[in-house]
Amino acid sequence: MTNSAFTPRVFSGIKPSGGLTLGNYLGAIKRFVGMQGQMETIYCVVDMHAITVWQDPKELANMTREVAAGYLAAGLDPSQSILFNQSQVAAHAELGWIFNCVARVGWMNRMTQFKDKAGSNAEKASLGLYAYPSLMAADILVYHATHVPVGEDQKQHVELTRDIAAKFNHDYKVDFFPATEPVIEGPAMRIMNLRDGTKKMSKSGESDMERINMTDDADKIAKKFKKAKTDPEPLPETVEGLASRPEARNLVEIYAALDDTTPEAVIAQYPGAGWGTFKPALADLAVAKLAPISVEMARFMDDPAEIDRILASGSEKARAIADPILKQTYDIVGLLRG
Ligand code: ATP
Ligand code: MG
Repeated sequence: MTNSAFTPRVFSGIKPSGGLTLGNYLGAIKRFVGMQGQMETIYCVVDMHAITVWQDPKELANMTREVAAGYLAAGLDPSQSILFNQSQVAAHAELGWIFNCVARVGWMNRMTQFKDKAGSNAEKASLGLYAYPSLMAADILVYHATHVPVGEDQKQHVELTRDIAAKFNHDYKVDFFPATEPVIEGPAMRIMNLRDGTKKMSKSGESDMERINMTDDADKIAKKFKKAKTDPEPLPETVEGLASRPEARNLVEIYAALDDTTPEAVIAQYPGAGWGTFKPALADLAVAKLAPISVEMARFMDDPAEIDRILASGSEKARAIADPILKQTYDIVGLLRG
């Protein structure tokens, strides 16, 4: 069976593991909102993934609301998309267990993100952190989602999702789960850390100076770009000149993504420009794009009960899709249910 047998459906999620960054906005949220209306869209605050590393319980609840506020402020419309937090839909965890029994230890051992996140002390990492890509496969496949917009760093996990779906279909001799497509396109698929162009910008990164937060004010944004690491050379005359300059390329890609254009067009606008010209222009553009969203985020955060209502109502809609798929999975596997 091919994917054309499945209703086109988008699923993606963000962990409430810290404040949202410019990487989350450009690599995820902005694109999620762009897919709204084109097909069915389901967006999740994946709180069960957040607890794969320690989260303070009070902070976790607040962060969950803040990620929801980020989605809503950026234009996610709860009447067009399903928006909810993962832990309210038990089917994710239930299918996740079944997938733990489908995925192979050897596959998990190849996941580069576990190696990055666990670092040199993998023995002390939680079992959840190791197994999380299998829960992520369940997040996606419990909706039979066909398209998953993600940043470049999540490509390997979407590929694993396809492997799990294929092995399940093969082992149980069914055509039940689709081969999900990762959707990774545009100039901002891997926004790098502002202090180290070889590392991804992450909300759980160590220093606040290495990332732009969606809630940073104009002064902070200007300061962070001003201090962003670069080489001493000015911008090149053509985009090829960025090839071996990760920090310069990153700043040009951020500009392009914020301005809905291409790195080529940015270089054509600023050929040979020095950092004293380009960095303030980039900061102004980032402020112009982010300020209205952070104002909206603050407005949503002033009414947490309303966010909780939106998430509860989204969870109900999500369960209406996920529960029948989970029940069919139980039947295929031979798990008795009443
Ligand atoms: P954490 O440090 O806790 O892993 P994170 O910033 O990596 O946080 P996630 O919740 O893991 O955020 O990822 C949410 C989405 O944002 C994913 O689709 C991921 O690919 C995307 N994303 C995260 N960081 C970046 C980045 N630097 N550039 C582009 N996309 C990103
Ligand atoms: Mg991440």
